[in-house]
Amino acid sequence: MTTIQLHNTKTRRKKPFEPLDENDVRMYVCGPTVYDRAHLGNARPVVVFDVLYRLLRHVYGPDHVTYVRNFTDVDDKINARAAESGREIGAITDETIEWFLQDMGALGALEPNAMPRATGYIPQMVVMIEALIAGGHAYEKEGHVLFRVRSYKEYGKLSGRSVDDMIAGARVEVAPFKEDPMDFVLWKPSGADLPGWPSPWGRGRPGWHIECSAMAYELLGESFDIHGGGNDLMFPHHENEIAQSACVHPKGDFARVWMHNEMLQVEGKKMSKSLGNFFTVRDLLDGHDGQPPVPGEVIRWMLLKTHYRRPIDWTKHGLSEAKRELASFYEIDPEFMTGTDERIAKPVLDALCDDLNVPKAIAALHEMRQSLNFEDLSPTMRALGFNGEWAMPKQPALSYGTSVNFIVSDLDDSRKNKDYERADQLRAGLVRAGIEINTVGDVSHWKFTPDFDASKLEEML
Ligand code: AMP
Ligand code: ZN
Repeated sequence: MTTIQLHNTKTRRKKPFEPLDENDVRMYVCGPTVYDRAHLGNARPVVVFDVLYRLLRHVYGPDHVTYVRNFTDVDDKINARAAESGREIGAITDETIEWFLQDMGALGALEPNAMPRATGYIPQMVVMIEALIAGGHAYEKEGHVLFRVRSYKEYGKLSGRSVDDMIAGARVEVAPFKEDPMDFVLWKPSGADLPGWPSPWGRGRPGWHIECSAMAYELLGESFDIHGGGNDLMFPHHENEIAQSACVHPKGDFARVWMHNEMLQVEGKKMSKSLGNFFTVRDLLDGHDGQPPVPGEVIRWMLLKTHYRRPIDWTKHGLSEAKRELASFYEIDPEFMTGTDERIAKPVLDALCDDLNVPKAIAALHEMRQSLNFEDLSPTMRALGFNGEWAMPKQPALSYGTSVNFIVSDLDDSRKNKDYERADQLRAGLVRAGIEINTVGDVSHWKFTPDFDASKLEEML
């Protein structure tokens, strides 16, 4: 069987991956908090772990992999959004989840096998918190339940830091009900205006970290293979997940391999609303701030070009390069992607098995392209989530052929009649609609480009 090498954050080493059960390889990835459209950074872990999911399915078989990614649908940011907009919490979270799935689907990401919502697992979280209290790992104070960090000797092992170093470096909330500033909230009281559930500590709601421990246990068991997320989650979120799970299930391993993607920056800076370089995946897909829409496949390509353990600098220049690069695979023969079979050619598989070395896999794809090895290239591209759809003349586009012919003959007539102003207008309009025009002598030839936009063409009719 093919061996996959994975870098484990916990051991800081790349090692051959050995699943606990080859018939059920289990992976958990932390998902989004659902109160707003996913920003571009949120798409990175989705796309990175989608490639890993596809690789695992290829190696172990599609029915032998279980991928769980949660939705955090109870959180103070969601409560704040509901309060300021006057909308129901459930309406906000339902809508955001739908958006998320549409946007990530547009990036070619497969849906995980399970996408649990935190609010569906409150009783399981309560059971876990009760066990932590019974074991001396948590305490109740003023309606809050806190995890006693000093009770878990291994705390900090994932990020390789001691508790004291972490206190020095972190902005931990000092609260009167905490025994120690590092202790974190498992449960907190809810007033009548906030979402709350009954519990032995009164009506309240869970802290963030406990949901992943509870849902991973329910859906994947006390030991599973891979846990993923962005490296901003390593501390405190993942340290806390480990502490909770290890203290309730001391015989389990929780996650055996921890994988973290690096962050995405925009034009060399951290994405932030105040710097004006913050945008959502939907902004890119639809076009924003005067920029043309970016096809989902191009966004996917751009996100995958950089190895997941390196930072991505997302730039306008890089994006247009990525678009040209991906188009080069489809230009030779736009029909070559029309098949449906998926297979990963050996050189690409070898690269992916080397800790998801997608840049090396892309180099191998270029070699196949240059040697016109379509037999391997197109099934491999599909297996990686690229189907070339955006680059192919679309059926609706084809039905506009007569209209384009009509405008193009008007253009040629205008030139013949020396009405150059009209001819230039028509040409500019066609180019705006994503039609390439090439005039030889008196006759103009045209073709649809991947940027064809029917609505812009219709404006000309
Ligand atoms: P959040 O909704 O903030 O909890 O984030 C959801 C996921 O997106 C987590 O796995 C984060 O690590 C990841 N993430 C957030 N910002 C970025 C970024 N700038 N680059 C890469 N991943 C990010
Ligand atoms: Zn989590």
